[in-house]
Amino acid sequence: MKGVFPIEKFKKTDTPFYYYDTDLLRETLNTINKEAGKYENFCVHYAIKANANPKILNIICQAGLGADCVSGGEILASLNAGFPSNKIVFAGVGKNDKEIKLGLEKNIFCFNVESIPELEVINCLAENSGKVASVALRINPDVGAHTHANITTGLAENKFGIAMSDMENVIARISHMKNVRFMGLHFHIGSQILDMGDFVALCNRINEIQVKLEAHHINVEMINVGGGLGIDYQHPNRVSIPDFKSYFETYAKHLKLRKGQSLHFELGRSVVGQCGSLITKVLYVKEGTAKKFVIVDAGMTDLIRPALYHAYHKIENISNDGCINTYDVVGPICESSDVFAKSIDLDECHRNDIIAIRSAGAYGEIMASQYNCRSLPIGYIKEDIL
Ligand SMILES: *Cc1c(COP(=O)(O)O)cnc(C)c1O
Repeated sequence: MKGVFPIEKFKKTDTPFYYYDTDLLRETLNTINKEAGKYENFCVHYAIKANANPKILNIICQAGLGADCVSGGEILASLNAGFPSNKIVFAGVGKNDKEIKLGLEKNIFCFNVESIPELEVINCLAENSGKVASVALRINPDVGAHTHANITTGLAENKFGIAMSDMENVIARISHMKNVRFMGLHFHIGSQILDMGDFVALCNRINEIQVKLEAHHINVEMINVGGGLGIDYQHPNRVSIPDFKSYFETYAKHLKLRKGQSLHFELGRSVVGQCGSLITKVLYVKEGTAKKFVIVDAGMTDLIRPALYHAYHKIENISNDGCINTYDVVGPICESSDVFAKSIDLDECHRNDIIAIRSAGAYGEIMASQYNCRSLPIGYIKEDIL
């Protein structure tokens, strides 16, 4: 089964470009709101870093989600898109002074803090501007996720977060800081997680932590479990919306929230991944000695995930329903890693055929670069093209 695309319109549009199926995005957002809405106190933020195309942000903001930012630029992008500042959380191991000042000035909901030196700087900058910053501590739960090594973030040997053994010390330090208020705990164990057992492991760990903190009479208003829910890269047509029902159910069932506590989520990939495709044209079909290459006009500068993580993206020739042939699909960039897929079956390719590289809505357009002096790809939503 292939995706359904406005192929005639695509033929008249310069390639490569990103195409976003906004009907699917809206349907995904409705599902999130329906499933998370079953539980009191569940708040969903969208992780801006997955895709910050202003039109996409606008739709997500209209659906009522909050924003999860990892830089000052993302705070500005989310404010520009209309996200209210009291729904913005700000994470990251290396927040600079300018970014912290921006967060303070805009009165964001919460800083997710990753170290003691960072806390001290936030306290000092907040004092200078006469504010009190709300903070959550990003705790490293030492929970491994069954995903690619480059995208696990919750193991002990990781640059992210504060070790569990330091947690009480850090909270004690906060109680002596006048311009920082402790709100709660933040976690994020990795990305592209499809095994609900990984989230169960996180819940169990948080339950242990809560018991420990209660013994010290430390009040936690809020718990933020980050993001990480994966998408089905193999079957973008059959499984176009991730299993949000099981995802939220897992937390509802396994995480022991205390009275009045709110539970926050920061979903990126699962919100936008399936709605985006990179649309590219076949430039040449080249016969190698042992294989055939399809050389397309998109490269790793437009979508770096295959080169960076050996990520799989389903590729379809949407111009043609010919005989199946086996190809390596490669881009024009002067790097051997500029390969989208090796030895895949595609409907026979010819020059100017249009190729869709699927499930590219997350960590696609936003990671594009101008290497080789190429232009950045444009992102079109359905309404732009039709
Ligand atoms: C990247 C990131 C997210 C979003 O991750 P997804 O896997 O795209 O859902 C959420 N929270 C933090 C802190 C992150 O770094």
